[in-house]
Amino acid sequence: MVDALFIGPHPDDIEICSGGLALSLRKQGYSTGGIDLTAGEMGTRGTPEQRHEEAKRGAELLQLDFRECLGLKDGHIQNDEQSRDLLIEVIRRHRPRLIVAPLPLDHHPDHSRAGQLVKEARFLAGCAKIGPDLPPWRPGRVLFYPSREIAVPSLVVDITDVYDDMVRAIQAHASQLYNPKSDEPLTSIASEQFLQAQEARNRFFGSQVGVRFGEPYVVEGPLAVSDPLPLVQDAGQSVFL
Ligand SMILES: [Zn+2]
Repeated sequence: MVDALFIGPHPDDIEICSGGLALSLRKQGYSTGGIDLTAGEMGTRGTPEQRHEEAKRGAELLQLDFRECLGLKDGHIQNDEQSRDLLIEVIRRHRPRLIVAPLPLDHHPDHSRAGQLVKEARFLAGCAKIGPDLPPWRPGRVLFYPSREIAVPSLVVDITDVYDDMVRAIQAHASQLYNPKSDEPLTSIASEQFLQAQEARNRFFGSQVGVRFGEPYVVEGPLAVSDPLPLVQDAGQSVFL
């Protein structure tokens, strides 16, 4: 059983979109695991072999307890029965309390379909007669991470203490990032500005909750709390609010 299961369509998505939460949970003693839905074999830059090595290094830097690749087809992720059954098997085998996955509204079709796929597999994993022959298990919620689209977060995770480690984990994916010596085609994350844009994004969301660096998440429906006080920043204590 794992506390939090992080799911990314491609090998660098967990690091870029939810690496701060993964590190923060680990620091607090929770167990974490990662599932890459594809090996990123259709990526504009890098080879499958490079991406495999980078995913391994990224998992080490995020201190994941495990990282697996589901082997779906890069560029053609589908929310179909076969893909759902593969994911249901993963959910029932690892029995996560929480799943972290892409927001279904993402502009990249692999990301939006992955978000919907995860959402449906999470539910169906709790239906005993559906999918692979393993005991049913339904994780509590999915925390959806937005990528570049504008989404109003339900919550922002304070990742200030783990920000530098998160950047190092992102940099494990060197084939995807800026390299002045590379003659491969340019992509948005291979631009010279990408890491600066990432920092600006984390600083912006951090500023929304009064911390230095923040990572945004969307949750469907209300979250139950018995004591809201720990969730409320004291405006008098923060220079931001
Ligand atoms: Zn991706």
